[in-house]
Amino acid sequence: MISARTPSAARAWIRRYRARGERVGFVPTMGALHVGHRTLLERARRECGRLVASIFVNPLQFGPDEDYRRYPRPRRRDLAILREAGVDLVYLPAAERLYPPGFQTRVSVLRLRGPLEGRSRPGHFDGVATVVTKLLVAVEPDRLYLGQKDAQQAILLTRMVKDLDLGVTVVVCPTVREPDGLACSSRNAYLGPEERAWAPALYSVLRETASAVRSGRIRRPSDAEAAMRSRLARGPGRLDYVAAVDAATLETAIRGRPWLLALAYRLPSARLIDNVVVRPAKRGAR
Ligand code: AMP
Repeated sequence: MISARTPSAARAWIRRYRARGERVGFVPTMGALHVGHRTLLERARRECGRLVASIFVNPLQFGPDEDYRRYPRPRRRDLAILREAGVDLVYLPAAERLYPPGFQTRVSVLRLRGPLEGRSRPGHFDGVATVVTKLLVAVEPDRLYLGQKDAQQAILLTRMVKDLDLGVTVVVCPTVREPDGLACSSRNAYLGPEERAWAPALYSVLRETASAVRSGRIRRPSDAEAAMRSRLARGPGRLDYVAAVDAATLETAIRGRPWLLALAYRLPSARLIDNVVVRPAKRGAR
């Protein structure tokens, strides 16, 4: 496995792959790799002749009160996982190299950055869009692999790739979960035993609400939101938001198109997000 620390080093290696006609798959990560990341890597490995991953904890997407400094950085373990997953090249840029003094550019996906996570985390998606643009410029992949776990991110980056003519195919992979339903996340490592024991409730609430929407017991997005809110009212933390929105645009959900049920919940040690997509019952069905 080759390591590249600068955009020009990454680009030079990857251009050699492309010159040989090899398809390049790219999995960007912030490290602290878990089985969710591994599933993305496996899919990319199967579908592409060359597999590139990056590890970069992007300061631009963290708010001032968020966990940038304490975000886990188990570098040796991560590199071993990438090697085992058959990664050909890992891109490991330094923050000072990606954002030198004087850096002032942002990429904004205007409508999609606003709702849900955007409301709780102002500036987050400009940080995400900016770093992913920089990573794509360095790696120039054929296929970009993202997780449905971060549904809004996947929708926003798909839009960005289209709007900026970046010419990369975006592949969104299903959310990988622990056996009890909790979505795998690097932040799960922050949870104490009691928080960890409670956390699968988030997915239970999403699943139960999705089942009511699918069967026609819930017909209005506002009722889906109210059901999730009331189910989570007595948890050990604080609900940041719940949303039932159109799964493609994040705008008002309508019958006849899939809905995204999404939530963010603040436990004392970690803020967790999760979502499911559900097709609502047809009119009259019950
Ligand atoms: P991160 O390291 O958290 O920035 O995540 C890197 C990529 O892995 C993103 O595209 C995430 O959506 C994806 N990912 C993270 N957790 C999961 C999961 N549980 N299932 C599927 N994809 C995931």
